[in-house]
Amino acid sequence: MPYATICKGCWQQKRIPIPLGGALSLPLRAVGIRRSRMNPNTCTICETMFERMMKARTIAVDGTILFADLRAYASLSQTLAPAEMSRLLDAFYDVCATAIWAHDGLLNKTIGDAVMAVFNFPLRQADQLAQAVAAARDIRRHFAESGGPLGEISAAAGTDLGVGIGIDTGELSFGEFGNTHRDVTAIGTVVNRAARIQAAAERGQILLTEATHRALGEHAGATQSAEHTLKGFDRPIRLYAL
Ligand SMILES: [Zn+2]
Repeated sequence: MPYATICKGCWQQKRIPIPLGGALSLPLRAVGIRRSRMNPNTCTICETMFERMMKARTIAVDGTILFADLRAYASLSQTLAPAEMSRLLDAFYDVCATAIWAHDGLLNKTIGDAVMAVFNFPLRQADQLAQAVAAARDIRRHFAESGGPLGEISAAAGTDLGVGIGIDTGELSFGEFGNTHRDVTAIGTVVNRAARIQAAAERGQILLTEATHRALGEHAGATQSAEHTLKGFDRPIRLYAL
């Protein structure tokens, strides 16, 4: 996996080149400065600053949320042994993480058979929406290819695996929430709507709102649209499928 050779966060914020690979990174690794596990294109200094900032306050971010959900999971959980099930989820998380990180997104959460990613935070991206859609297309491409761990597991189980993806963009809040279990996460209408849009997506579909689709412009490609009634939203909204 070709991750960044210097920390993108430190370079973007401070113009300091922090080596993350090769011989130059060895002295830094000795003092605990390594790739972040939330985003391997950034470093543990960025991660610490991010966590400190999050403890201090909740901040408003103009961001893009991507939800991807493994389909055929319900029936697989009955046909697969628990060990195979966890192999499947690991493979799915890997596929999603690789695609999200390749496009500078933050893998914010894994929730059972779904993942949630944030774009334009903490790394700033002028083309956040195009990057989110590119990550979604990468994830979907993995399901179309027969090789790889996902294909192996699905062939062994005799079921075709698929993915449904929802993307929305707008203002969201980022902060540390929860009393018993505190968790750094994005919240807001955009997050809820992206989750509902993902639930409305059929296998193999990447669904977007009308505003998001318009903002995507030339990157959208051929699309079809339909009205959907989303749980928790009063009026039906038009969603565009990529
Ligand atoms: Zn850094």
